[in-house]
Amino acid sequence: MSPPMPGQKFSLPGVKHVIAVASGKGGVGKSTVAANLAVALHMHGQRIGLMDADIYGPSVPMMFGLGLVDQTRTPFPIERQGLKLMSMGFLVDPNQAVIWRGPKVAQAVGSFLVQIPWGDLDFLIIDLPPGTGDAQLTLSQQAPLTGAIVVTTPQDVSLIDARKGVRMFQEVRVPVLGVVENMSYFVGDDGKRYEIFRSGGGKKLAAEAGVSLLGELPIDPRVAECGDAGEPIVSKYPDSVVAKAYVALAQSV
Ligand code: ADP
Repeated sequence: MSPPMPGQKFSLPGVKHVIAVASGKGGVGKSTVAANLAVALHMHGQRIGLMDADIYGPSVPMMFGLGLVDQTRTPFPIERQGLKLMSMGFLVDPNQAVIWRGPKVAQAVGSFLVQIPWGDLDFLIIDLPPGTGDAQLTLSQQAPLTGAIVVTTPQDVSLIDARKGVRMFQEVRVPVLGVVENMSYFVGDDGKRYEIFRSGGGKKLAAEAGVSLLGELPIDPRVAECGDAGEPIVSKYPDSVVAKAYVALAQSV
């Protein structure tokens, strides 16, 4: 298949739903949410692809215990834990900073969409780069998105940017499926729920924007451990409070 043309709207005939996971800011857990949501949906028997469009800071390889691969010998997408995965991190050494401008990023991501044989999928989850710049805008307009999920943390700094994210999708008429508040609370050994940061921000943002609050996910140090060790928490600790919150999230998507 030929590479996509600039401005082209791509089509993915074998994919039922294409969902972008976005955030206004980096570090709020967007990639973690994308990966764990993908695993949770797969546990529900869905056929899932996970495309890492975060060209500058690809996280999918590490979260699934992968890294650079020999492109000449590896068929893409790479299958792991029942998911079909694609990431720039399979192709470019993470230590070589990828210094690309927006249009080139959009082109690379367009190639991932069009040239990778995704086959038949129920959901293709796209882990978007953080922010609401040109690259994100182009992607949102070119990818055949069913909808977008905006991830935030409870703090105002994150909520302000998440609001911009919601607005960006609304402007380009991509349905916002809802907001996910990550790192909402912590469950202590006593089983009690502690709200470390001021809570309720995600709920307020969702209400203001007229979209759903899809979930509030707890903070748990094992989320980061699992992310670094190559197996998302949903599959590693399926009985954890976090995993159960993801299962509920998958049901609401
Ligand atoms: P982003 O994609 O928004 O930049 P990441 O998904 O890479 O964010 O998450 C940033 C860091 O926070 C990672 O180390 C990740 O493991 C950790 N993290 C994300 N969500 C949680 C959580 N609910 N509890 C604990 N750590 C988390």
